Amino acid sequence: MDREPGEGMGVARRVALAPGLWFVATPIGAARDITLRALDILASAEVLVAEDTRTLRHLMEIHGLKLGDRPLIAYHDHNGAEARPRILRHLTEGRSVAYCSEAGTPVVADPGYQLARAAIAAGHPVNAAPGPSAAIMALSISGLPSDRFLFVGFPPAQAGARTRWIEEIGNIPATLIVYESPRRVHRLLGEFCEHWGEMREAALCRELTKRFEEVRRGTLGSLRDALEGDSLKGEVVLVIGRPLEIVADAADLDAALLDALGRMRVKDAASHVAEALGLARRDVYQRALALKEGSEE
Ligand code: SAM
Repeated sequence: MDREPGEGMGVARRVALAPGLWFVATPIGAARDITLRALDILASAEVLVAEDTRTLRHLMEIHGLKLGDRPLIAYHDHNGAEARPRILRHLTEGRSVAYCSEAGTPVVADPGYQLARAAIAAGHPVNAAPGPSAAIMALSISGLPSDRFLFVGFPPAQAGARTRWIEEIGNIPATLIVYESPRRVHRLLGEFCEHWGEMREAALCRELTKRFEEVRRGTLGSLRDALEGDSLKGEVVLVIGRPLEIVADAADLDAALLDALGRMRVKDAASHVAEALGLARRDVYQRALALKEGSEE
């Protein structure tokens, strides 16, 4: 976590926190991105739960918060089944319980979902102190349409599931937000290009709110090419614009193709129109073939 001068001034207030589960969003890089309400909750909850107890201790120390004699319970992907009953017992006994994942918003590609389900099923209130999430920050700065977006998390690792996932999300008419490791993002961009064409707009957002924050904007193809031989470091979010055939009006595409097909061979017509409309050549070629065949019937 990046420290800045003047931190730890003790702005948190002890408040009478209602019993129940409190999800608390924490910074994704810059420690000062914590909200005042999050600090109040961390100062006041009777029980603290963290995906990584060391990270939470460090964050509390930066902001001048004391754990005191309150319990601090680890709750992560590998101990959920054992840790949940203990947390639920605290809730049943009427305590306020704050949960922080390692960074950002709990439950967003992080633990918390099963805990929320179990707490709700047992009739306990579930609250949150909203705050940073890499997905939303990346969307904000991507320059891509935000009227409809879909967070798709990390790609599956297994080959078959991965191909199905790529095909399934490829046609959704929405901006997509993908989490990926920096070591695998070049390969993923290549796979997207293979399945969807190279021309979809995209933004690669790296190390958000940290010292080496960087955004590269371009098409899937240009980003893939720019990363060739480049060993990326840090954390990465990929934001991808909606499918191009949905961006361009289908009637405009057909009109441009019919015009070009009157003057050129199918392949040249497709290249010409793809370039003019900023569409994937492969997709335009398929449409050109269909139009050509239709006109010959
Ligand atoms: N709960 C977190 C959130 O709300 O963003 C996400 C946790 S997930 C385990 C970790 C992934 O989030 C990283 O692999 C990366 O894709 C993304 N991420 C988290 N912090 C980031 C940052 N500072 N810059 C870019 N991506 C980040």
